[in-house]
Amino acid sequence: METRLFIDGRYESASGDARFTDLEPATEATLAEVASADTRDVDRAVAAARRAADHGPWPRMSAEARGKILGRLADEIEKHARELGTLEARDVGKPISECVNHDIARGARNIRFFAALAETWTQEASFGAAKFLGADLRLANLTARAPLGVGAIIIPWNSPLMLGTWNLGPCLAAGNTCVLKPSELAPLTSIALGESANAAGLPPGVLNILPGLGAAGAALVGHPGVDGVAFTGGVATGRRVMAAAAESLKRVTLELGGKSPNLVFADADLKRSAAGVARSIFRSQGQSCVAGSRLLVERKIADDFIALVIAEIGQLRIGDPLDDKTDYGPLISAAHRERVDGFVSEARAAGAEVLGGMRGALPARGFYYPPIVLDRVRPESRAVCEEIFGPVLTVERFDHEDEAIALANAGRYGLAAYVWTMNGERALRVADRIRTGMVWVNSFFLRDLRTPFGGARQSGLGRQGGRHSLEFWTEAKLICMTYPEDNANG
Ligand code: NAD
Repeated sequence: METRLFIDGRYESASGDARFTDLEPATEATLAEVASADTRDVDRAVAAARRAADHGPWPRMSAEARGKILGRLADEIEKHARELGTLEARDVGKPISECVNHDIARGARNIRFFAALAETWTQEASFGAAKFLGADLRLANLTARAPLGVGAIIIPWNSPLMLGTWNLGPCLAAGNTCVLKPSELAPLTSIALGESANAAGLPPGVLNILPGLGAAGAALVGHPGVDGVAFTGGVATGRRVMAAAAESLKRVTLELGGKSPNLVFADADLKRSAAGVARSIFRSQGQSCVAGSRLLVERKIADDFIALVIAEIGQLRIGDPLDDKTDYGPLISAAHRERVDGFVSEARAAGAEVLGGMRGALPARGFYYPPIVLDRVRPESRAVCEEIFGPVLTVERFDHEDEAIALANAGRYGLAAYVWTMNGERALRVADRIRTGMVWVNSFFLRDLRTPFGGARQSGLGRQGGRHSLEFWTEAKLICMTYPEDNANG
């Protein structure tokens, strides 16, 4: 297992040999001592990326030629899917079936998808007319899309390979070079991408990987050699990233947290909806940006529906993330488990009912926390208003559609919403009035990679997916040419 920085195509120790400890959530034991980048390493990585952007072949290659290399990178990820999936399951605590079948598979697909899209992305040209220095001229306006240059990609710990490639794919396919900074809590599969990049024949300096603490991310954002920043993480960090990027007027995209509501109407298919709601919050132990952490349910079916969700909890196989049958593992760290429990304890002290339903007991070792439903919780409580990022579903009841929409739009987040109803007109009306970046109807988190992904309000800034990503990673450049109206030379 590689634990060092990846700069200019080579693995290297950190300047000063600094390291941080990476724990395995299921065992609480040390998984790796990982090189920790400091500002000198950030300088070296950005310099390598800058050289590759300014003097290397990558930005000047055809999209097809880049696509060939990126295709091989995707092949490498697929070839090592089981190894990478195992590493991610150990590092994050996510069930291995989810890692291999979803995250790693999506990792390869992200790269392939954007490489293909860049090959078919055509630009505009328009003709016009103007007078210039007394002459009547025709104009030919060409809109080119030039690579931005050097990208900084900063990702959180919950789905490192999927989120890393979701950003790397468009960044590299558009002809940029980049520095990827994974989270200090789960850096290992990102580091492993360096080996895949070399095996695929990516030119040195095109992809650099800097495991490190938040300070390394901050140094990257503030670095004058970086042209654009794609940040995925919490709202508070996102605010700091945006402020730092403003200092040097860098382009920034922010994919932040959420508190996404599930709106369940009495006319929904209740059994299917309960399975969907349970999946939306308990998958990845609730550690997902799009987790459906609020249940807004029509009062007349509320008790029956909660019972169905509790029954779904009973189906979860809780245990070792490395067991193929497991579908619920530990949280990322002891500190995070304490934070999650803080929300629950506070709500319980204020009168909330804690409902369980888990089958069996939690494993004795590991940062496990039970999947729970918090009923009778106050709408103004922290558990309802703040992102918990854990396996906790809060319940609020409503009587009318308007009330449901008002509840859904309360608070500062606006990432996703899920509407469960068999009434198509209602589905459209509600989806239209909800202030989130994404609304799923009778489903959870189905993705077409061409569509815009991102949050409204404090859940983010900008959109990723399809052309939205390619637009972020390129500079629209006008090239205006003129020619005389008449053929003066006959
Ligand atoms: P975090 O904000 O603590 O850290 C994210 C990354 O930023 C890490 O790599 C960290 O080292 C780095 N960082 C810390 N301080 C920094 C600074 N000042 N400047 C630059 N980088 C800095 O988030 P986390 O706890 O790792 O992840 C959980 C959060 O991520 C949740 O809020 C979740 O909703 C969000 N998330 C959002 C999406 C999305 O697509 N919207 C996807 C996954 C996770």
